[in-house]
Amino acid sequence: ETIGHNLDRAVAAHPGREALVVAGGGPRWTYAEFGAAVAELARAFLGIGVAKGDRVGIWAVNCPEWVLTQYATARIGAILVNINPAYRSHELAYVLNQSGVSVLCASTAHRTSDYRAMVEEVRADCPRLRAVHYIGRTGEQGAADGLGATGWDTLLAAAAAVSPGDLAAREATLSCDDPVNIQYTSGTTGFPKGATLSHHNILNNGYFVGETLGYTERDRICIPVPFYHCFGMVMGNLAATSHGACMVIPAPSFDPAATLRAVADERCTSLYGVPTMFIAELALPDFAAYDLGSLRTGIMAGSPCPVEVMKRVVTEMHMAEVSICYGMTETSPVSTQTRREDDLERRTGTVGRVLPHVEVKVIDPDTGTVLPRGRAGELCTRGYGVMIGYWGEPERSAEAVDTGRWMHTGDLAVMRPDGYVQIVGRIKDMIIRGGENIYPREIEEFLHAHPKISDVQVVGVPDERYGEEILACVIPRDPADPPTQDEVTAFCRDRLAHFKIPRRVEILDAFPMTVSGKVRKVELRERYAAGPE
Ligand code: ATP
Ligand code: MG
Repeated sequence: ETIGHNLDRAVAAHPGREALVVAGGGPRWTYAEFGAAVAELARAFLGIGVAKGDRVGIWAVNCPEWVLTQYATARIGAILVNINPAYRSHELAYVLNQSGVSVLCASTAHRTSDYRAMVEEVRADCPRLRAVHYIGRTGEQGAADGLGATGWDTLLAAAAAVSPGDLAAREATLSCDDPVNIQYTSGTTGFPKGATLSHHNILNNGYFVGETLGYTERDRICIPVPFYHCFGMVMGNLAATSHGACMVIPAPSFDPAATLRAVADERCTSLYGVPTMFIAELALPDFAAYDLGSLRTGIMAGSPCPVEVMKRVVTEMHMAEVSICYGMTETSPVSTQTRREDDLERRTGTVGRVLPHVEVKVIDPDTGTVLPRGRAGELCTRGYGVMIGYWGEPERSAEAVDTGRWMHTGDLAVMRPDGYVQIVGRIKDMIIRGGENIYPREIEEFLHAHPKISDVQVVGVPDERYGEEILACVIPRDPADPPTQDEVTAFCRDRLAHFKIPRRVEILDAFPMTVSGKVRKVELRERYAAGPE
């Protein structure tokens, strides 16, 4: 089934139910209205000459046009290229050229980002790019810049020349195995890679994630995570529409107060976020004033969640069924998920168990042999979600997905006897000191208990004697009183094996982060590779 046909079924089944809502008094669409708006935009794309397989880029903060563009491009067999709204002109040009985007839909500006100025800066360097449509701008304003750029209304006007029959004719040529989306990875371990995904890949994943959460047409999902990432567009939007549920947009970019206000005003039943978002919401001074009684579930994903935070999410945010997901862009994304009935231990200590129709195995990364349960090794996954490949990079695709269609995740994991999976860390982050394998996460969790440490990242740096040495990058609780090397050593002595004790401590104000909220350890490693400053 294609994404377009799946949406048709939701429209036919629940025409009067709400599909998309912008909280705080913004526009709202029922499924009947949403289906019509998607069809109109799809005809507009046909009207401006978008062919099957053409790449349409979207560089925008969360807004209803993002969602409409997602479904309209899928309807006409175009390939949507999600572009991270935190990118700057250099990264924008890289993505536009790497994926060959011919039509770009973009926000004009948000907070400190002037998207229009950056698009114009790179136009001359992107020969494939022939049209830009600015969301929310009128044609007159858009035309004034003389760059073939127009406003959204000018794009929509192109629908007039295209009949519903033309759209149906295009749809008849589509297959569920066609590529529908190029999603770039977060770039945690290097430069982002463009995962090419089919209708079959992402529609099924959205559907199964929604099934695991028990979604029905009565659910209303608050989505403060970015649409450009699979967390928003697959686990949010596709999980919603494949169950006839409603997508609620709280704000263009994450805002903890707007998020809780949207949950209360729109009576949301489900709320998404990475752990740091939930922490920010719980820390609001007027947290108790928001009525969150409508919530029952949600998803926390992307990185491990501290137990104390999870307890508060369950009790104070009423999210008794909150789910942890593990996955990666290349697998559409989710492979394992906790279940509604799982206890707190499974919800905080594991990333759940495998989803239907997905296989996982833990292997010795050097020999490829499958390891017994309980032993740490590289997690590999297989099933409908595995990407077609990295766009334009056959060698890297072959490194990631083997000839048996197993995705080698690069993550270290343990399969417990009960079938629940624990993520131990990333292979690239593992420190090998004097032949000993050291997992940074274990040391990080230990150091979190130090009274002077607010946050900590542990990385390996080159060392002549041991090959690698352990460095702790520390954000102190009080910048005026950071922990010394001796204090850290004393804290660890007798409680951690001596080979795990960090030999160097660096004090920082903040860590280098990706937009999806992950620490770029690769940058920390490079920064301190040369030795003490
Ligand atoms: P890049 O591949 O560009 O270096 P990335 O791997 O961070 O970046 P994503 O595809 O967004 O890009 O993230 C997938 C990774 O996120 C996984 O491989 C895993 O390391 C981590 N991850 C995802 N979910 C969880 C989770 N629940 N717990 C711990 N880690 C997780
Ligand atoms: Mg990755």
